[in-house]
Amino acid sequence: MEVTKKDIRALTKEELRAFFVSNGDKAFRGNQVYEWLWNKAAHSFEDMTSISKETRKMLNDNFVINHVKVDHMQRSNDGTIKNAVKLYDGLIVESVLIPAATRTTACVSSQVGCSLDCKFCATARLKRMRNLNPDEIYDQVVAIDNQSRFYYNRPLSNIVFMGMGEPLMNYKNVIKAIDKITSPEGLGMSPRRITVSTSGVPKMIKKLADDEVKFKLAVSLHAALDDVRTSIMPFNEKFPLDDLREALEYWYAKTKSRITYEYVIWKGINDLRKDAEALVRFCRFAPSKVNLIEYNPIGDDQFKQAGNDAISMYQDLLERNGITVTVRRSRGKDIDAACGQLANKS
Ligand code: SAH
Repeated sequence: MEVTKKDIRALTKEELRAFFVSNGDKAFRGNQVYEWLWNKAAHSFEDMTSISKETRKMLNDNFVINHVKVDHMQRSNDGTIKNAVKLYDGLIVESVLIPAATRTTACVSSQVGCSLDCKFCATARLKRMRNLNPDEIYDQVVAIDNQSRFYYNRPLSNIVFMGMGEPLMNYKNVIKAIDKITSPEGLGMSPRRITVSTSGVPKMIKKLADDEVKFKLAVSLHAALDDVRTSIMPFNEKFPLDDLREALEYWYAKTKSRITYEYVIWKGINDLRKDAEALVRFCRFAPSKVNLIEYNPIGDDQFKQAGNDAISMYQDLLERNGITVTVRRSRGKDIDAACGQLANKS
C-alpha cells in the first residue's frame, strides 16, 4: 500500500520532539531537526549533516519536506520584483519584493485565489482556492529575504500580508507562519515590522485582539458608507461597517495599536465630500491613519482612479481633522505586481 508521507514542516516543535521520543530517541533530536528545517532552511534530509545517517533515513521514510519554488521572477523598472511561486501541488501564488531607500518590504500571499469578492481586485477573479500552509507562507518570506540580500545587499526589513487572499480567512496558518517568522529559530523578525491587511472580518479582528498579537493591522476600507462599500465589496452586506467599527474599537482597546486604513478613491464611486466626511467620522472610532492608495487598473471600465481634486479634498479634510494621511504611489505596475493586480498573469 502506498503511504502518503506527511509534510514534516506541518509539525510543531513539540510534535517533532514527541515523534523522536516515541521512536526511542531523545527529545532534543527534535530541536535539532526543527532548527535544520526552519533556521537553516534544509530542503532535504540529506542536508542535515549533524544528524546520523540512520535517523535521516528514518525521517525520509516517514516524511517529506515540501518547499515552494520560485517558478518565474520578473523585475520592474522601479526595482520591484514579482515572483510566481509554485506550491507542492503545482498551484501558483505570487509574492512581491518592494525596495525603498531604507528598507525592503515583502508582500506575501495567504491563499491561492481569494474567498472574497471585491469588484476592483484582480485576485478576486481567480476561481481556484485553497489556504496556504504555514510553511508555504514562511517560504515566500525566505525567498524574498534571499532576493533582498542578493539584489539589494540587505536583509528584508518589513512584511505585509497584502498579496493574494484574505489572511483572516486563513487565520490559524497565518498566525503559525508569523510565529515562525518572528521566532529566533525562524527569521527572528520583529512583529512590529509585519502588517496583516484585511478587508474586514469583524469576528477575526476580535480574535486577533484576544490572541494579543504584536503585529500591525491594516484594513482595506475604501468606503465608510455601507451602501457604497457593499456595491464594491459585496461581503460588506454580511459584515457591515457597524460590526467592523465595533471590532476595531475592541482591537484598539486591547492592543493600543493604531490601525491603518487603505483607501482608493474612484471616480463616481466614492469621490464626493460626503464620502470623505464619512471616512473622517469612521477614523474617530479608534486611533488610525489613512493611506490613500493609487488604483491599479485591472482591465475593466467600471473603476477609474479619481482626479487630483478629489484626492486633495480628502487629504485636506482628513488633515484638518487631525488624521494622518499619506498618498501612496504604486510600485511595480509595469509587471502587474501592484496592489490588486496579482492574478498569475505570467
Ligand atoms: N484581502 C486582504 C489582503 C489583500 S491586500 C485585504 O483586502 O486587505 C491588497 C490591497 O490592495 C487591499 O487593500 C485591496 O483593497 C487593494 N486593492 C485591490 N485591488 C486593487 C487595485 N486594483 N488597485 C489598488 N488597490 C487594490
